[in-house]
Amino acid sequence: MGILEKFDLTGKIALITGASYGIGYAIAKGMHEAGAKIVFCDIKQEFVDRGLASYEQDGIDAKGYVCDVTNEQMVQELVKKIEAEVGVIDILVNNAGIIKRIPMCDMTAEEFRQVVDVDLNAPFIVSKAVIPSMIKKGHGKIINICSMMSELGRETVSAYAAAKGGLKMLTRNICSEYGEYNIQCNGIGPGYIATPQTAPLREIQPDGSRHPFDQFIISKTPAARWGEASDLAGPAVFLASEASDFVNGHILYVDGGILAYI
Ligand code: NDP
Repeated sequence: MGILEKFDLTGKIALITGASYGIGYAIAKGMHEAGAKIVFCDIKQEFVDRGLASYEQDGIDAKGYVCDVTNEQMVQELVKKIEAEVGVIDILVNNAGIIKRIPMCDMTAEEFRQVVDVDLNAPFIVSKAVIPSMIKKGHGKIINICSMMSELGRETVSAYAAAKGGLKMLTRNICSEYGEYNIQCNGIGPGYIATPQTAPLREIQPDGSRHPFDQFIISKTPAARWGEASDLAGPAVFLASEASDFVNGHILYVDGGILAYI
């Protein structure tokens, strides 16, 4: 097989969680261009409808479902439904995530739990739901959307960093436990990406200056810019494709070089 053929996702079914917009949407778009059939879920019907409208506008025949990925019963039902209506999932992207920027000592235990629930427990729940069919099918690709915070701590993101650090280790564990079944589980660690999640960090200040964090990011990123959601598409296609069949248990940081610099 030629090298370009190895990147071809034709005939593969990709489930991407939280992919109505933002990074998940950009990854879905990239995988569609590489040939995959796109299935996504989001927590609210209005998000799914908005996502479906965007996919349609981009000429992508995607299927969208409402699912709270922290709810194990809903996830099990979702996977059964996808298998019945579309087919067995070849590629899972655990993308849905939340962040709460609150100093640790001001954060309630419930707020901490909510973040860990979406950013760590949900990838466990969804992976657990798809792996048995991947084993039967003889292959599978799982991509966990981690973060630079899988490696670093920073003020106000204790729950997020704890969850994304845990997600890095879940990635390694899935690799160790299911690699023998030809399942590859890798992570992508986005740097600072311009999406609604990070919009507050780019707000222009009352005096017209740029947000201090915005200035910090630009000054510390060798690429000297925020990432775009589309920057994640190529790495995700690579990790979903046969081109990465011997890559397992790793986190690919897509960060404009900032981790190497700070
Ligand atoms: P967005 O908030 O733009 O998109 C995430 C989507 O997931 C939203 O639609 C969100 O809905 C949905 N979601 C939240 N909770 C659930 C749930 N329980 N069940 C189903 N769907 C849910 O995020 P981004 O595109 O910015 O980020 C995508 C991933 O990338 C996340 O895991 C994030 O942590 C990670 N990341 C992002 C970075 C960035 O700079 N943007 C940097 C590093 C990592 P709702 O809007 O209601 O929350």
